[in-house]
Amino acid sequence: MTTLVDYDDAVRRYDPVLGIEVHVELGTRTKMFDGAEQSFGAPPNTQITPVSLGLPGALPVLNRTAVEYAIRIGLALNCQIAQWCRFARKNYFYPDIPKNYQTSQYDEPIAFEGWVDVELEDGTTFRVEIERAHMEEDAGKNVHVGGEGGRIHGADYSLVDYNRAGVPLVEIVTKPILGAGERVPEVARAYVQTLRDMFRALGVSEARMERGNVRADVNVSLRADASAPLGTRTETKNVNSFRSIERAVRYEVSRQAGVLDAGGTVTQETRHWHEDNGTTSPGRIKSDADDYRYFPEPDLVPVEPSREWVEQIRASLPELPAARRRRLHDEWGYADAEMRDVVNAGALDLIEATVTAGVTPAAARKWWMGELARTAKEREVELEALPITPAQIGALQQLVDAGTLTDKLARQVLEGVLAGEGDPEQVVAARGLAVVSDDGPLLEAIDAALAAQPDIAAKIRGGNMGPVGAIIGAVMKATRGQADAARVRELVMQRVAEG
Ligand code: MN
Repeated sequence: MTTLVDYDDAVRRYDPVLGIEVHVELGTRTKMFDGAEQSFGAPPNTQITPVSLGLPGALPVLNRTAVEYAIRIGLALNCQIAQWCRFARKNYFYPDIPKNYQTSQYDEPIAFEGWVDVELEDGTTFRVEIERAHMEEDAGKNVHVGGEGGRIHGADYSLVDYNRAGVPLVEIVTKPILGAGERVPEVARAYVQTLRDMFRALGVSEARMERGNVRADVNVSLRADASAPLGTRTETKNVNSFRSIERAVRYEVSRQAGVLDAGGTVTQETRHWHEDNGTTSPGRIKSDADDYRYFPEPDLVPVEPSREWVEQIRASLPELPAARRRRLHDEWGYADAEMRDVVNAGALDLIEATVTAGVTPAAARKWWMGELARTAKEREVELEALPITPAQIGALQQLVDAGTLTDKLARQVLEGVLAGEGDPEQVVAARGLAVVSDDGPLLEAIDAALAAQPDIAAKIRGGNMGPVGAIIGAVMKATRGQADAARVRELVMQRVAEG
């Protein structure tokens, strides 16, 4: 029976150490070692060749674009790029590995010794050291039918889809991540998020977690304190959402603390993550590298990227997400906390597009972090899922700037757009929301208000402008909020001056 230790108690008494392996599927047109096309969602076993099936006599040819993408990733992670490296065979049997080995890299990875800075929610930066980034191929996919939750146990039969066999992968392995303390779950999540954003910015992968483009294996161990040797680790496999990464790390910390408190030892093993109840369970006893009988791949020539090519790739790297955030922070003049809220709310791209649509950074932030953030929360969706575009916000802001809408009316127009009533101009027309810009009806309403509140009218005529708000309020009510308060005030003064 697993006795869980309260998380806060566990991290007070033990020093947690993380290690993360991230696999990313590269978005090349074809596979790593053959000309089979690869795309998500193709019918099973339609994207295969003798090479991806490992048929006798089929020989691999390396995909140059995949190597370029791997180098891009390596450079973005501040790694050194190998002058010379080889592929290796990692031998094991599994039905989705038709060759009985995975073509991977072992002691000669394409990229090594790097680092990446990860921004945490409180605005601090945590540096994660990268041990290596190596190239390998993906396995096919087993589909177990009839069992519970798609697992092999209890299944009636299993099918294999080889479309994914041979899809190019880069696997990124961190060094032990020390010193995160109680923030280990957040560091783990933020690290994978940083990589995901980086893959997208680099254009090497669509990096969609829900499609398995990015898969994280999370290693956790505990030790008595920061000076003690590393404890035995477990590896929770294929944790495929940011939230699950945080939860899985928290769970393993609590579970291992329970094992150690009871005088037991943590078993070095892989563990399965269970999304439904937030727990992990034992997988297989973790094999040592020896068990895989790695040896250099004899069918592929070594990879020797020229220094010129590497430098060309370096020069072509796009602005990376962290640098972009720093630049926009300066350009927009947001306070640190404002910028952090914007990033955490996933509003950065939306605000940038809104600014491009002609809205000032301050106004764009007000829209997305105000009304729209509230609406997204109410509807329990992400900001970007709201049925409104930055261009529509731009059009709405133009109407406000032109004096056609007051802020209050603009919020009603926004409601209309979110309700699917069309662009701001259409909502203004359909709901009749424009500011009453004709003085005639305003003067009529003012006269009526002055007549209805004679004592206030007398005070104003006597030069006491204090109670003018009551008149403006009455005019607003009469025009259903469609008057411009400043203009009404002007007209009241005019009326009073006329006697
Ligand atoms: Mn791997």
